[in-house]
Parts: sequence; structure tokens; C-alpha cells
Amino acid sequence: MHVRKDDIVEVITGDDAGGAKARTTGRVLRVLPDKGKVVVEGINRVYKHLKPSRQNPQGGRLSKEMPIDASNVLLYCSTCRRGVRIGKRYRADGSKERYCKKCTNSLGTLSKPRKAYAKKS
Ligand SMILES: [Zn+2]
Repeated sequence: MHVRKDDIVEVITGDDAGGAKARTTGRVLRVLPDKGKVVVEGINRVYKHLKPSRQNPQGGRLSKEMPIDASNVLLYCSTCRRGVRIGKRYRADGSKERYCKKCTNSLGTLSKPRKAYAKKS
């Protein structure tokens, strides 16, 4: 998966997708790797209507985000101010990071430094 929980992503396809003028972004609430889906805050929200019950005498409606295909979102790059394709690379200390393929800025650490991948000085 190219995104993780708590990532900010841009939704590029689907009913909630924005465009170049108004980009739709949201925070990843959940990742479902075996289904290739993600749940993004405020995206693909559905309402479940509830009949009045003893516990909830008023009834009402419950809103809930449904999973969307992970391929419909791109990790948001704050430098490019848009969703971008990412790459992965090792830093000199052997830690792994994600980076924006457009501006090459780091988009966060993926794993701790590991000697095997560190550059020899
Ligand atoms: Zn960028």
C-alpha cells in the first residue's frame, strides 16, 4: 500500500474527487490492505437511517465513511500542494523514507535506520 493510517491524501477519482481548482483532501482513517481499500475522513460518506428504538427514541441518521479503492487516492505533498506519486529511498543513515517524485522532498520516514542500508563513510 502506498498510503498509511493518518496520511493526508488527495482523492483523484470517484464521486468525491475534486479537480485542479478545488482539490479534495482528507486524512486516512483506516487502511484495508487485503481489500486494497482505504477509509478517508469525510469521503464516501453514507447515511444510515435509524428507526426510533428504546435506546434511541428519536431515531435519526448515522453517518459513516465507506472504504474507497486505494488507487483513487494519492499521498498529498505539501510542497506541490497536490496528490503525488511517491518513491521510496534509503537515507545515508540506512533509514527508509518516502519521497515526492515531483519535487523529491521527503514525505516521512518508513523505517528506522538499518546498518545494512547505510552508506559507508
Ligand atoms: Zn512534491
